[in-house]
Amino acid sequence: MKKIGPAISGSWLKNGNPVGNPQNALRCGAKTRRGTLCQSSAMKNGRCRMHGGASTGARTPEGIERIRKAHWKTGYFSKQAITERREHRAACQRADFALAAIKASFRKLKPILFDQDGNLVNDPNES
Ligand SMILES: [Zn+2]
Repeated sequence: MKKIGPAISGSWLKNGNPVGNPQNALRCGAKTRRGTLCQSSAMKNGRCRMHGGASTGARTPEGIERIRKAHWKTGYFSKQAITERREHRAACQRADFALAAIKASFRKLKPILFDQDGNLVNDPNES
């Protein structure tokens, strides 16, 4: 049976790392919801795993591009798609206005009526 103990370089850890007392670790010290100081052990940044602060997001252009690609699903909200939809709506609106104008001009016209023999019943030039 292999002996596990403090005989190896003064450490009882299998990897040989020095034994530290977790009680001596630096404390977070952030203000908790109770109003007291957080007692969790601090990380390199001085705060604990809960109070380390929010992510500041991608900084490099590669990181920003990677995030952008990760969120891309259909492209429906891409700049190009939004611009195309806006232009299409404007074109439809222009067509609607043109159609309304044509309909209005037709409404002003009087129908030309003929009887069964092909004789003009009403003259549209007469009011
Ligand atoms: Zn904390």
